Amino acid sequence: MLGFWLCEEPRVGKHPPTDSSVIIIGSGFSGVSCAYFLQQAGCDDILLIDDDCYKSASFRNCGHILPGLVESMFALQKIHPAPKATQIWQFSLDCCTRIRQTIAALATDVDYQQNGYLVVAIDTTEEREHLQSVAALRDAGFTNNSYLQASSLRKFGIRSEYGARFDADGASANPLKFRNALLQFCLTQGLRYSSKQPVQSVREQNSRAVIKLQSGKTLHADIVVLATNAYTSLLSPVFTNLIVPFRGQIITSAPLLNTLPPALNMPFSFNHGYEYGLITADKRLMFGGWRENTAGEKYTYDLTPNPQVESGLKDFAARYLDFAGDIKWEYSHSGIMGSSASGLPYVSSTPNTSIYVCAGFTGHGFSLAHGCAELLTKIIMGESDLPAVSKYLKLSI
Ligand SMILES: Cc1cc2nc3c(=O)[nH]c(=O)nc-3n(C[C@H](O)[C@H](O)[C@H](O)COP(=O)(O)OP(=O)(O)OC[C@H]3O[C@@H](n4cnc5c(N)ncnc54)[C@H](O)[C@@H]3O)c2cc1C
Repeated sequence: MLGFWLCEEPRVGKHPPTDSSVIIIGSGFSGVSCAYFLQQAGCDDILLIDDDCYKSASFRNCGHILPGLVESMFALQKIHPAPKATQIWQFSLDCCTRIRQTIAALATDVDYQQNGYLVVAIDTTEEREHLQSVAALRDAGFTNNSYLQASSLRKFGIRSEYGARFDADGASANPLKFRNALLQFCLTQGLRYSSKQPVQSVREQNSRAVIKLQSGKTLHADIVVLATNAYTSLLSPVFTNLIVPFRGQIITSAPLLNTLPPALNMPFSFNHGYEYGLITADKRLMFGGWRENTAGEKYTYDLTPNPQVESGLKDFAARYLDFAGDIKWEYSHSGIMGSSASGLPYVSSTPNTSIYVCAGFTGHGFSLAHGCAELLTKIIMGESDLPAVSKYLKLSI
């Protein structure tokens, strides 16, 4: 089933696939953003290619544009030394800024709003983690985060006995509108785009990339970018076990014109971000998550929504949101993300000098993929002033 965003058509490309200086495989956030930044850097012979762009996670997400990674700052500091966690957080903030700047430059309405992000605790452990995260962020020099008492959540229509973390940098947008607007801009700048051209394999020969299409045609490029996120390991064996697929699922209600609390005008989540929601521009509740409660959501490319997840989501929403008790749900859809062992994406060259990667995005890929595409462009162009975080995103095998 197609999700709510896909009521609008994703733009597809009819250009015949041809040899090019740069070939970008994948037309979601990463692929189109790579095209955008490479064009800004002066590349004018770029082919963008995809197989079935409808399956792209970029049209199947919840529209959150968030600072940080899936982990809170407190959890991030448990995994990484504090200076590294700070660099990662700063990079994620820079990615949020970059996407805001790009949206402003496109001058197209993509329903962008920056009203912050609310992460609601559902038990004492999580509440403590929010307090510790706000303190850790403040100690690291970040000032846009605060703790909200449980009682202050009532105005958002949120029912929880525990408090929440508020990140003022959080934003949201319609992901399909953003990708279409960015793609449209690139096309006016000379990007060539071929849809429905599944790639079978990518390899290197004589320092050039050789791309074999399932149609039997072979393409050559000086540089190829794998912007295929969860699907990357299917194209290049280098990524087997490095990026693995997992399914996320979202339900979307009919418009709730009279029952929504006006204060709930920002992306929100519960339970360490495992359950998440958004009020769309036409006042629907979009609500996702619950995947950690059922088996079979990892290592799958199956886009069929799981009825158990759907029912878990409905119960969760009814329990924690005042207005979600008996609402009419109109859409249920799933999407495939890619997870890496480190939780960080690969934005990097590979052992093959003509093959680059921008993939491995989990639940924060909206802003991260855009910022990572800018970083990858700098790497491809041989720039030396890379952000400190780039060493953590480098593929090392
Ligand atoms: C349910 C769900 C909710 C999410 N919520 C959020 C959120 O609120 N905020 C957020 O930041 N992130 C969210 N994400 C994650 C985010 O959507 C992804 O991280 C992001 O879309 C990754 O973009 P991408 O361009 O790298 O990959 P994708 O958008 O998945 O694009 C992959 C591309 O590769 C192409 N491709 C694959 N195989 C081939 C092949 N063989 N040949 C040619 N082309 C191929 C596809 O056609 C597609 O164009 C969510 C994801 C899901 C599934």
